[in-house]
Amino acid sequence: MRFDYLVIGGGSGGIASARRAASYGARVAIVEKARVGGTCVNVGCVPKKIMWNAATIAEHLHAAADYGFSVARDPTLDWAALEAARDAYVARLNGIYARNLDADGVTYIEGVARFADAHTVFVGAREIAAEHVLIATGSTPRVPDVPGAELGITSDGFFELEQRPKSVAIVGAGYIAVEIAGVFRALGTDVTMTLRGEHLLAKFDPLLRERLLAEMTASGIAFETCVHLDRVVREAGGTIAMVFGDGRVSGGFDVLLWATGRIALTDQLGLENAGVRVDAHNDVVVDALQNTTAAGVYAVGDVTGKAMLTPVAIAAGRKLADRLFGGVEDARLDYDMIPTVVFSHPPIGTVGLTEEEARATLGDVKIYTTRFTNMFHAFTARKPASAMKLVCAGKEERVVGVHVIGMGADEMIQGFAVALKMGATKADLDRTVAIHPTAAEELVLMR
Ligand code: NDP
Repeated sequence: MRFDYLVIGGGSGGIASARRAASYGARVAIVEKARVGGTCVNVGCVPKKIMWNAATIAEHLHAAADYGFSVARDPTLDWAALEAARDAYVARLNGIYARNLDADGVTYIEGVARFADAHTVFVGAREIAAEHVLIATGSTPRVPDVPGAELGITSDGFFELEQRPKSVAIVGAGYIAVEIAGVFRALGTDVTMTLRGEHLLAKFDPLLRERLLAEMTASGIAFETCVHLDRVVREAGGTIAMVFGDGRVSGGFDVLLWATGRIALTDQLGLENAGVRVDAHNDVVVDALQNTTAAGVYAVGDVTGKAMLTPVAIAAGRKLADRLFGGVEDARLDYDMIPTVVFSHPPIGTVGLTEEEARATLGDVKIYTTRFTNMFHAFTARKPASAMKLVCAGKEERVVGVHVIGMGADEMIQGFAVALKMGATKADLDRTVAIHPTAAEELVLMR
């Protein structure tokens, strides 16, 4: 079989690139070893957002009584029903993705791809030749190498839980750790977060990580910070315990979940046969145009280790197809100012530089912050605080960072990302009339 474009990996980046290439008339094939849609659709963004929605409903049910509704203070969740509906939705999406590829004339090949050379790939015994090959195989959860690690699950296993555990330990402090912790807690599970450092979301602006830690603590999540996890053991009675470096034991957990980062999926690809180099973290090395070290072989998405976010993989994949098949010579994704949302409770929306980054790289920095209680919580028993920060640089106070935590932050940040990309200044925000009463209006009212 011979194609113009062979895409290895049927996740967000691979599918987007394959379909865009096909739209230009290229003969395209895509190889996928598991379910079409990759991490985002099957064990990532999509089922996670559904669980986040369920957790948000649980919080609103608590608030409903404060608003005068007669609802039970502790409404019960049928976890199995939620899981079944969620999985059915994901299966529907799998079907839609497969049909879209078919409609676009992309050949779908199921199996594991392995390079024979830069332009020849084997899937089982089947030999496929292509002028251009894209590696879009994504990433998989990383599990620390400690005794008893196999007693834990990862985010993949989270989506296989058939009932709500009563008590979980979550190891890690990144996106996945805080998102899953928030879901579990809102749905009534006792949660202990175990951090090797002292911060959640270490690379985020301090305002966000400090506020999040305070709100998660207020929601009843327990924290073990600055601990070295020595081993994980099964206790008599079947529960799981963590044994720390100082000999201390924290136990009684139904589930232990590793949320300790993700590693590029490259092990079965035979990259050495193609001359594709990986770095010390095992990420495929690419330049700004997504070229790998082998001519005619490209990589996008998590496998490159850069900004591991679905829309980044999609955008990079489409730009690459524009360049290879659409005649847009230097089409490339601009990795600057990528907005991102952490679906924690409360959610976080952020774009641009943190205060620390701006001070280190730009020097002349002015910071605006605000903290307030969303009007939604005017008379609810729990009153999570919202907080916002604008990071501005230079005499003209160009806005180089916007950081928001609180109700609605997830839907607030996209428009501000456009403004930042356009070079908005603080004066531009000041000239913009506020929308009242919203939380977002605070972003144009800071002094
Ligand atoms: P992250 O890179 O966000 O965080 C990894 C965490 O694991 C860090 O807190 C790190 O701690 C901790 N860690 C690493 N090794 C150990 C160890 N041995 N013991 C204890 N803790 C350890 O990775 P995630 O797995 O949370 O998520 C992977 C990526 O997926 C994210 O970076 C993000 O790009 C993407 N993602 C995006 C989402 C979204 O857009 N909403 C949602 C989920 C994932 P330390 O801070 O000390 O380094």
